Amino acid sequence: MTERINRREALTRTSAGLVMAGTVPWVADAAPETDPLQPPCELYPEVFGISCDSFQLPPEGMTAAHRSAALTQLQAYQSLQKSRTLGFQANQDINYQEDLQPFLNFHINNVGDPFQTGSFTLNSKWMERAVLDYYARLWNAVWPHDPENPESYWGYVLTMGSTEGNLYGLWNGRDYLAGKCLLDDPHAEAETREASRDGRARCVPRRLVYQQAKAPTDTPHAFSPVAFYSEDTHYSIIKALRMLEIQTFYEIGTNDYPGQCPISADGTWPKEVPSQDGGSGPGSIDVDALSQLVEFFAARGYPILVNLNYGTTFKGAYDDVETIGKRLMPIIRRHGLDQRNIEYQDGRHETRQGFWIHVDGALGAAYMPFLEMAHNDGRLTQRGPNFDFRLPFVNSITMSGHKWIGAPWPCGVFMTKTKFLLLPPSRPNYIGSRDSTLAGSRNGFSAIILWDFLSRHSYAQQIDRALRLEKLADYAYEQLKSLERQHGDLWVARTPLALTIRFKRASDDITLKYSLANETLYVNGEKRDYSHIYIMEHVTNAKIDSMISDLRGAAAFAEQLAPQSDAETTDCTASLKEGRSLVFVPEFGRGMK
Ligand SMILES: *Cc1c(COP(=O)(O)O)cnc(C)c1O
Repeated sequence: MTERINRREALTRTSAGLVMAGTVPWVADAAPETDPLQPPCELYPEVFGISCDSFQLPPEGMTAAHRSAALTQLQAYQSLQKSRTLGFQANQDINYQEDLQPFLNFHINNVGDPFQTGSFTLNSKWMERAVLDYYARLWNAVWPHDPENPESYWGYVLTMGSTEGNLYGLWNGRDYLAGKCLLDDPHAEAETREASRDGRARCVPRRLVYQQAKAPTDTPHAFSPVAFYSEDTHYSIIKALRMLEIQTFYEIGTNDYPGQCPISADGTWPKEVPSQDGGSGPGSIDVDALSQLVEFFAARGYPILVNLNYGTTFKGAYDDVETIGKRLMPIIRRHGLDQRNIEYQDGRHETRQGFWIHVDGALGAAYMPFLEMAHNDGRLTQRGPNFDFRLPFVNSITMSGHKWIGAPWPCGVFMTKTKFLLLPPSRPNYIGSRDSTLAGSRNGFSAIILWDFLSRHSYAQQIDRALRLEKLADYAYEQLKSLERQHGDLWVARTPLALTIRFKRASDDITLKYSLANETLYVNGEKRDYSHIYIMEHVTNAKIDSMISDLRGAAAFAEQLAPQSDAETTDCTASLKEGRSLVFVPEFGRGMK
């Protein structure tokens, strides 16, 4: 270190001299790297069980001994945390090492559309298609994917988790509702012919143009989708709305229809669609409120974009997708949003719906079908609401692969129908380079991971697994309730069929030990800090007992950090009056960690 600092001082001196000599010092002499302003480990968060310094990467690399000691620390840390984790809906009971380890030495990339071969041959697209077919069957879609069958599904395996599926679903929905199309470029061939006149051969580029259909003059909002989502919605939906600049009902309502909100006494617009009974409720969307809000905007000609949750992040609640669709469809039809005529090129038309329902099924879409099967077999009295493609009004579904199934990294599935893609109907068998999937390079290993799990677990096994966890969640709830009877109110609650149980926020030590997730909720006007646990495959009775025993100890619950008044949050809203209110961005909870 001293040596480097001296070298830098020397350089500065030389530079000064060189500048006087009229040359450019930084070209020849400056070090191609910087020194830290202070030792980074003093600045970064401390990690229990990890010595930060052992992981800093020196330019000369590490000695074998140093590296191996660091990896030993890493292994010890991950193993300990894995053995106790209770807070997140990511299954840690996974074993891919035995069969799949050799594939770590291949770069397997599913770049491009899963149904097109492409020239990057180190891919696993045939396994990706098998995984997609599996979920198409499970979610009652028409399969296999067939570009000539508009009703058949289309989808892909995500490189991120449901965050990407939500982003893609909302993007697809926005463009579809906004009258965007992907058309063959009619000029490509003529331009190429012209260019080839200089004697050099040119090939015709396969080109699509991204085009906006003509807006009908009598309905000014016809191509301005308005988004609806509940206050229990995952943070990724809000982020996607911001990225895509999709307007929410709150934004349009507050700015263009102030004081006219149909669901509040004084006409002010809520930032998000209320959840049933607010913070004290189960966490599912308030269907009456949603219907009234949709009615307001549908009547004014706005196309409707709705996100529904199938397993909310904190409470594990299932929005009643079937009931909601059945409530919304008459409204949609009454205002002519069921079938709309889109003129995508002069004189060329397409019929599109004026609504889009996206189902964020990060956790629930993966396992609720198995609870439904258990229910049908008489093994469970309850079941969740229908949410999948058997409902004709569902446009897209996403699911995370690392949650129910469990994977070493985030992954997931996105699915829609072929007819909702932006390609014009005149070319159903289009086989050119299609602008599909969000990323360019896509993780081809994820498809192998999902395939491996699904090949090793029959429906029967997944049903048993779902029932076991359902029972275990009951057990955890009962144990927490019994603790509550001795301890006083701990706000213990479980939404029906949810794999999560929430309770008064645990101390920082307990939060860290069990990797608990915390969130603040308003319950009857009172602001409360909660923790929750998720009962996933790696959870056992013993792990639950261990946490309960810790919760019996002194100072097991955290001081409630949530301020009891809203003063601090309303203080800064004054300055908003000047500007346009956009989407509301929650700062805590909702999966934002
Ligand atoms: C976890 C979760 C997400 C985000 O999924 P990632 O896989 O973490 O990207 C989205 N929605 C809900 C309801 C979730 O629980």
